[in-house]
Amino acid sequence: MEFDGCRYPSTGELAALHSTAYGIPVEQHIEVQRTAKDAAGKLVPYSLLTFVAERGMWPVRGTAQFCTGDWKTKRIFAAWTPLVRRLRRILGRPVRILNVIGLRTQESTDRAKRRSYRRVLANRDRHVDEWLPIRDWTTSAVREFCDASDIAHHWAYDSVPGAGDWNGSTRCSCSICIMANRSDLNLAVRRRPRLTNLYAQVEQVRGHRFRQDLSIAELLQLAQRQGGPAPGIVLADDGPEFDAMATAVRAARRAAPPHPGSRPERAAAAGAVGVR
Ligand code: SF4
Repeated sequence: MEFDGCRYPSTGELAALHSTAYGIPVEQHIEVQRTAKDAAGKLVPYSLLTFVAERGMWPVRGTAQFCTGDWKTKRIFAAWTPLVRRLRRILGRPVRILNVIGLRTQESTDRAKRRSYRRVLANRDRHVDEWLPIRDWTTSAVREFCDASDIAHHWAYDSVPGAGDWNGSTRCSCSICIMANRSDLNLAVRRRPRLTNLYAQVEQVRGHRFRQDLSIAELLQLAQRQGGPAPGIVLADDGPEFDAMATAVRAARRAAPPHPGSRPERAAAAGAVGVR
């Protein structure tokens, strides 16, 4: 992303920079992305929004939060498999993996229940432990640590890219996240109008509210009112990656809704309320 003559790294690029700074060589980095075949049979990125448009349901916090399980944790565990297969043969014992995550107790009541160290999986091929090294850090402590390091934080946290003032979004999540507070969502809508418009179209066509307490249609109204966070930057979202996603989302929302009785269909029905 470019702003005011400077280029700012994406979240993936920033993660690679952080990883390199902590001594993990680039050749050991793995980038995980879900893919699907397009109409011509070519493998292309498969976005969460395309999945939502296809299935007609948004992820629901706690009860149907497939965005974090199916779209993140399971992908990461699957990405380790080739490494596990290779090392298992060499070592002749289960491969030990330490999954280090930056979750903190302050972030949510669910996260506050997580222990800082636990075994999450043990089978004949791999033993996976999870470690949350900054579990008990406060948000201020994290910001102080980042400010004192040589590694920049993501521009989304700032009022304007490059400001370094932590006056932007409180989280660096999916731009429009089911878990976000209203202020962060309002900011995201103001910063990414084209993306929000795509979300609104999916919500309207599928008739399932983005969240029970807040639809995308309501968010758009909120963003048009005076007050609230100033965007600082408005993304054009006009590059080839965005266009490819928009094309896939439009095709998915034209497809027939999921088969009645399927798991996503039941969850959608449970949460379905007309979009106001
Ligand atoms: S950032 Fe939000 S919407 Fe994205 S995967 Fe996580 S919980 Fe789901």
